[in-house]
Amino acid sequence: MNRCRVLLLNAALGPLDYRVPHGMAVGPGSIVLAPLGPRQLTGVVWEPERLEAESVGDNRLRPLIQAYDLPPLADPLRRLIEWTADYYLAPIAAVLRMSLASASALDGGRTVTEYRLTGLIPDRLSPQRAQALERIGERQGLVRELATAADVSDGVIRGLVKAGAIEAVEVSVDDPFPLPDPDHDPPELELAQGAAAQRLVQAVQAAEFAPFLLDGVTGSGKTEVYFEAIAESLRRGRQTLVLLPEIALTEPFLKRFAARFGHEPVAWHSGLRQSQRRRAWRAIATGQAKVVVGARSSLFLPYPELGLIVVDEAHETSFKQEEGVQYHARDVAVMRAKLEGLPIVLASATPAIESRQMAEIGVYEELKLPDRYGAAELPDMKAVDLLADPPPRGRWLAPTLVNALEETLAAGEQGLLFLNRRGYAPLTLCRHCGHRFQCPNCTAWMVEHRLVRRLACHHCGHMMPPPAFCPECREEDSLVAVGPGVERIADEVRDLFPEARVAIVTSDTIWSPAKAAEFVARMEAGEIDIVVGTQLVTKGYHFPNLTLVGVVDADLGLAGGDLRAAERSFQQIAQVAGRAGRGEKPGRVLVQTHDPSAPVIGALVSGDAESFYAAETEARRDAAMPPFGRLAGIIVSSEDQAEATETARLIGRAAPRVDNMAVFGPAPAPLAMLRGRHRMRLLVHAARSLDVQAVIRDWLGGLAWPRGVRVAVDVDPYSFL
Ligand SMILES: [Zn+2]
Ligand SMILES: [Zn+2]
Repeated sequence: MNRCRVLLLNAALGPLDYRVPHGMAVGPGSIVLAPLGPRQLTGVVWEPERLEAESVGDNRLRPLIQAYDLPPLADPLRRLIEWTADYYLAPIAAVLRMSLASASALDGGRTVTEYRLTGLIPDRLSPQRAQALERIGERQGLVRELATAADVSDGVIRGLVKAGAIEAVEVSVDDPFPLPDPDHDPPELELAQGAAAQRLVQAVQAAEFAPFLLDGVTGSGKTEVYFEAIAESLRRGRQTLVLLPEIALTEPFLKRFAARFGHEPVAWHSGLRQSQRRRAWRAIATGQAKVVVGARSSLFLPYPELGLIVVDEAHETSFKQEEGVQYHARDVAVMRAKLEGLPIVLASATPAIESRQMAEIGVYEELKLPDRYGAAELPDMKAVDLLADPPPRGRWLAPTLVNALEETLAAGEQGLLFLNRRGYAPLTLCRHCGHRFQCPNCTAWMVEHRLVRRLACHHCGHMMPPPAFCPECREEDSLVAVGPGVERIADEVRDLFPEARVAIVTSDTIWSPAKAAEFVARMEAGEIDIVVGTQLVTKGYHFPNLTLVGVVDADLGLAGGDLRAAERSFQQIAQVAGRAGRGEKPGRVLVQTHDPSAPVIGALVSGDAESFYAAETEARRDAAMPPFGRLAGIIVSSEDQAEATETARLIGRAAPRVDNMAVFGPAPAPLAMLRGRHRMRLLVHAARSLDVQAVIRDWLGGLAWPRGVRVAVDVDPYSFL
């Protein structure tokens, strides 16, 4: 009797045992199809000794339906999946799902049917059809994908197929990707770069676990350095994974990579069409895709021949996943490198205190690149005191910054204004009665977006048209915008410099790699004079003619006051400042603030990052905060406020008394209501040495709560909302 244990892709189910039919060969890691009641579910065969399951007699076992013709998930990946589930207190099936991220890729079919416009305009052109034709444009994809892109129903698309306006095309999904050439166009490295690259190449050759912190100021050429490690990995026929924090950064990266290696790497992100996703997954799983660049979800893919991992912009907090399995991709990447036994490079101009500390105690090897590449100098940075040098009433740019913009435009150079706030104004109120527009589902103000004529909630996405009169006092035309967002700053710039060509760069305008590519091309062609952007413009871009950066409100990031507020502000401003003067022309940076004496501002202006980090690190050490201590958030939510409160209290009362651990709360979470759910929060603070996950597992495992209540544990939280 041949039986096996299978972990199914269903987080509500534990592992189940099955019978292996005669003639089917499976082992640990095999990807299989198994029956469950009347359904068929995908799963992976697991070592029975590592996963407990209900014992079922041989005679009651059902047979597996199929073993897929794909390489099994390798041992180190299965250990990574177990570790991630364990560490982040997540269902193991939810982690496994990230490895098998393209269900359709499992089947061997070689083609997918996609659809595109034929150019024919149907006789009967309803508004829905007209909208579909306009929005589809050059797009190609499944019926569902086109319907989503055009914001119409599947039926509208099918109707257009029947009418001949849209045609089917067969797309091959098993075409191999071109292989990047390690010797295509190697750069001339400067001395410090060469030494760092040499060290990484050695580590790739040694093929054992070796974590590196590649620490270099913006523009110092970190990318060229780790490209040499990728070249070595390619020469050895191994795969490389490069993790980027934002998909908007993918496009410039692909270009740079293609210039160095002759071909683009394989991209993996949420913007892929199903056929692209399927082709990429199969190429990755069979080892054909040699270099993969992706967002955090690419971390769990089944690379059979991984030889190197690079995490670029490793300090970025967007590596932390805030929904579903709440993992931190940088930390899990290090664990994957350890389990696979390979080098990992964390690259950053402003490494996180967590990473610095690991270098400090000698766990990570630090490679420093002190200078900017070529002739470029670090930009000259000055604070603009908004109290001494205030903008005119109703304006946000101080005279000093306006003058600098004027000089920049006169010189034919480009400027960048940074404000980490989307939309026109963060708050809208009635000047007659003071009514404020709040989201009906969240504890958050509605943000005015003039580009699309909407008030929007940035937490749940709730939208409404701006009303013509106040809903409270019925006064007409009484609504006023309070405070600036990027759209308002762009308006101010257009007022001041009517001739200037202004571009707004936020997730509202750059929502896909293609949009990012378009922006880059326009910047490079000199078709934009002034960019107004959120944190989306702070990193990765390299525009030699950009010589002025203005930080509109340096105090904004400090307002939240969470653990990492000062560090994050420092990183953000240092990153955006790094966009200035990357070519031969020198750059300058003006930082508007109400408090020029704040330590963060002082460190930025003087360029003394080291003493700022030293002070931040000591403050964390004193308070036993991460990385010197540990935190875990427990968020209790329900549509019923009383139920949420009651459950949170129940959990609070049941808190175990454990040495070196304290539990704070329950208290309403700062976002006390989110997406229509009331939220209470408990915060667990523990010593580093404590296995806090085990404590929480026991603690919550012994409790029960009503069905409508959700209890989510956030281990090592980054968001304190
Ligand atoms: Zn009113
Ligand atoms: Zn909302």
